[in-house]
Amino acid sequence: MERVKREDTVQVMRGKDASGGDEGRGKRARVVRVHPDEGTALVEGVNVVTRHEPVQRTRRGDKSGGIQNVERPVHLSNVMPVCPSCDAPTRVGVRIDDDGDKVRVCKKCGEDF
Ligand SMILES: [Zn+2]
Repeated sequence: MERVKREDTVQVMRGKDASGGDEGRGKRARVVRVHPDEGTALVEGVNVVTRHEPVQRTRRGDKSGGIQNVERPVHLSNVMPVCPSCDAPTRVGVRIDDDGDKVRVCKKCGEDF
């Protein structure tokens, strides 16, 4: 069971975005994609690196390249999902519901999410 899923809101706990959010806490952002095999996730606006690419002209005559800001995947151990109920980064537990489905639960408040 994944701790972090696409469309989750996560808070950055470690790394350069761990103090870039409101009140000096880690940035909160939406998960765009999860790479379970690598244990990483792409998070909106987090771990942005500047890439310098050669400027080229496309066939339509537009310019591409130059300085580009690109999000790099962050390791899942550096982010924590934010519980919608208690609005805090939290550890995730797993509960098996009556249908046998696995449900993620917040270890702080016990709510499903
Ligand atoms: Zn909670």
